[in-house]
Order: sequence, then C-alpha cells, then structure tokens
Amino acid sequence: MQRRDLLKTLVATTLATSAPSLSLLASPSSTGASASKKKVYPWKNWSGNQVCYPQNTYAPSSIDALQEVLRESSGRVRMVGAGHSFSELVPTNDTLLAMRRLNGVRSVDEPKKTATFYAGTTLGETGPILADHGLGLFNMPDVDHQTLAGAISTATHGTGRSLGSLSSYVESLTLVTASGDEVRCNANENSDLFSAAQVGLGTLGVISDVTLKGMDAYKLKRHGFWLPVEEVMAASDPLSKDNRHFEFFYFPFTGMTLVDTLNITTDAIESHEELDGNSGIMDLKMARDYLSWSPKLRELIVGGYLKTQVSMERVDHSYAIYANDRNVRFNEMEYHLPIETGMSALREVITKIEKDFPEVFFPIECRYIKAESAWLSPFYERDAISIAVHRYFEEDFLAMFAAIEVILQKHGGRPHWGKINTFTAAQCREAYPKWQDFLDIRQQYDPKGKFLNPYLEKLFAPKEA
Ligand SMILES: Cc1cc2nc3c(=O)[nH]c(=O)nc-3n(C[C@H](O)[C@H](O)[C@H](O)COP(=O)(O)OP(=O)(O)OC[C@H]3O[C@@H](n4cnc5c(N)ncnc54)[C@H](O)[C@@H]3O)c2cc1C
Repeated sequence: MQRRDLLKTLVATTLATSAPSLSLLASPSSTGASASKKKVYPWKNWSGNQVCYPQNTYAPSSIDALQEVLRESSGRVRMVGAGHSFSELVPTNDTLLAMRRLNGVRSVDEPKKTATFYAGTTLGETGPILADHGLGLFNMPDVDHQTLAGAISTATHGTGRSLGSLSSYVESLTLVTASGDEVRCNANENSDLFSAAQVGLGTLGVISDVTLKGMDAYKLKRHGFWLPVEEVMAASDPLSKDNRHFEFFYFPFTGMTLVDTLNITTDAIESHEELDGNSGIMDLKMARDYLSWSPKLRELIVGGYLKTQVSMERVDHSYAIYANDRNVRFNEMEYHLPIETGMSALREVITKIEKDFPEVFFPIECRYIKAESAWLSPFYERDAISIAVHRYFEEDFLAMFAAIEVILQKHGGRPHWGKINTFTAAQCREAYPKWQDFLDIRQQYDPKGKFLNPYLEKLFAPKEA
C-alpha cells in the first residue's frame, strides 16, 4: 500500500463507524470592485480574493513602451507582476500595467557576481541564467513564479537566519517615474530613493530593471523529517543556527511538525521520494471534512499517520530545490515577529486554532529571516521569525485571520506586505522608524498619487494628513 493511501484507509475505516461531516463555509471575499458600463475584462490574483475591472490594461515589452504609457495615461496606474499577492496592492479600475513581458537578462558581471534583469523576469527564470555564469541567488522563497519587481516590492523572503529577504540582495534598480523619466538608484546614487524602493509596494514608480547580488553557484541538500511540535519548538533556536535554511510546518490537530532544512553540499545530485505536498493537503482536507467533529480522534488518526512518515533527502542545484509547486490554492496571512517573542506567539496561535477553528487543515509555516535596512522591510533592523497561517481558497478566512492577527500584533509582528493584513497607517508609523521618510520620498516622486489605489491611499496619503 502506498504511504498516502494509508491515511485514506484509516479515515475511511473510521468513517464507517462514526459521525457526521463538517459543513464548510464557502464565501471568498472580494475587493468589492464592480464592472463599469464599458466592456472591461476582470483581473484577479492567484488565490482569487482580489478582483478588479481596469478600464485599460497595458503590457509593455520595452522601456520606451512603458514610458509612453506613463506619459499618456491619466488616472491611477497599478503594476502587476505574477499576481501572487493576497493583499490589496494591485487592484485598480483605472490602468493596470502587466509587467511580465518586460523580462530577461540585461547583463551579468561575473567578477562582481551581479546580474541585471528586466523587472518582469520571474524568480524561476533567473536560476538557469545565473547558473550559466557560475552564479546563484543567496536565497529564494517557496515558490518561484513571482516577478523580480513584484517580489522585492513586498520583501519576499525564504528562510535562513543569516539571510535577508530578496530586497536585501538588490544592488541597484531603475525606476520609471510618474512623469515617464528613468531614475537609477543604489547605495551611492539616489540612496534615499533606493532605501525606499527596495521595498516600495509599487508606490514610487515602475521598476524597469533590478541588479541582484549573487554568489558562486552551489548545490543544496534537503533533509525533511517529522517531529512532535513541542520538540521542534524547544530546538528551533539551535536548528535555526545550525542549518543555513531551517523552517517548519505545524499541522494543526496532529501534534506533528514537518521540519525542512537545506545546507550547501558538494554531494552529487540525487533525489529520493519527496512529500507530495499537493495531494497531501487534499488528504488533510478530507481528514478535516470527516474528523473535525472529534479533535482527539483527528489527532489519533492523522497525527498517528504523520508519525509513520520517514525522512526525505534530496540534493540539487540551489535554484532547482528552493521552490515547490503550490497547486492547491489558499489565502494567507503572515507576520514577522522578533525572535524573542516568536515561539510564545506560535504557541498562542496553535492554541487558538485548535480551540476555535476546527475547519483549519493547512499547516502553519514558521521561518527565520535576517535583519535588513530597506525602510519598509518588515525585517527593518530586526531579525525575525515569521508565522504564516492559511485557509483553503474557497473558505472564508476573515474570522480566523482576525483572531490570529490580534495575537501576532500583540507580540510585535509586522505583516508581510503581500499577504492579508489589516495594518493601518497609524500602526505602520509605530512599527517602522523610517515611515515618515518613506512618505516624504513617495510624495516627492509621485506628488499626484498616480501610483495609489484606495488601499495604498489610506496608508500613504490619508485624507486627514
Ligand atoms: C503560492 C504563493 C507562495 C508564496 N510564497 C512566498 C514565500 O515563500 N515568501 C514570501 O515572502 N512571499 C511568498 N508569497 C507572496 C509573494 O511572494 C509576494 O506577494 C510577491 O510580492 C508576489 O510577486 P508578484 O510578482 O506576483 O507581484 P504582484 O503580487 O503582482 O505585485 C506585488 C507588488 O509589486 C508591485 N509591482 C509589481 N511589478 C512592479 C514593477 N515592475 N514596478 C513596481 N512595482 C511593481 C505591485 O504593484 C504590488 O504592489 C507567496 C505567494 C503565493 C501566492
């Protein structure tokens, strides 16, 4: 019997002797945008929780075309990369700039280990290109479909206590401003603009290219193994220091955790069986559907099954191993907390979910990220533990995320800009020491608010300000 069939059999056997299934909530939220009378085509993001009806959509494939759109468009303009953000950053009913066609490598400087890519290049596309030049990125997140500009604009990160977000590896970037002019910025040239634009949420201009710092190409060895959650929480500090990359996924109502470590290796490339995350998630959903009426039984069956799982190993090129497929859609909230408060917050989050939200079946993901200097990075001058919670895309996440967000904010968390959160301008001012500097530079580069949508306007240019 295949290992994942074992869980199905266990659940089916239990079902034959047990109780009713849980009826599910199914009301995905929307931005409230509505179609205008002109024939327009809707845009929606990866999970489908953000929708808008732009009057105009442009997909420039050259800098000239991009400049022309900016010079000639009136009204608001928002940029979209791969549409992988869950928050309200992208939607606009005016002009949507789809940046994916502006992609590819501009230049590589092998001695300096830097490479300049057009902004719409995806993270996944950078891997083989850099490898051809003997280079690799320092770190990557757990999917690689995001565009470079989209990823850095929200401080997209992977895991690694000694590694910052992607924004921290930007050496310089070029912005095309509201007036259509190009401005280059880095630590020496327009340095304030650079500190703002490293994590700029698309509010300063359109990023046309990004120069990334890389390192010599390398291979990674993945080691994934299962442990009871209490053991992982007790050992998370040394595990995060002893491994280049360390993260863990706690599976609610099971007591069990999947630990994932990655370390640089010179071993030959080889792959063993990997966890099939997507079908695994649907199995957890099935277990939830039938067993959530009895948390004890659920822990016994699903936790017991997870205890039978063996460890996994794989060696591959760095760019081929970081990212996974995420074929089961979800909505996500993630907060970045000080290292000191991270584990207490996690304990509270687990207790809350297991007490009040039996519908949850997605794991809670915990990662480590190093402090950095971009003004609006959630890792600004602070090492962090990130805690992310998910809900299946067809389910209402509002009540659960609201309950968890209170806990994460109480423990000093700053939200991931690309994920669902309710952080206000006042909270941003308190959480980000450079908030006012960012407001000033945004005002300087986009005085008319061309790059603001209603969400961003509330944050960056509230009417009372
Ligand atoms: C399945 C999935 C897995 C994920 N995994 C991770 C993860 O492991 N780690 C993590 O940190 N996050 C993760 N995320 C979140 C994701 O990385 C961020 O939301 C990221 O910003 C998305 O990039 P994108 O190219 O889709 O940008 P979009 O979501 O399209 O846009 C994001 C922001 O960038 C702006 N933007 C886009 N292009 C430009 C441009 N050329 N110039 C200026 N501004 C621009 C947009 O206006 C917007 O403000 C994940 C999301 C999903 C759906």
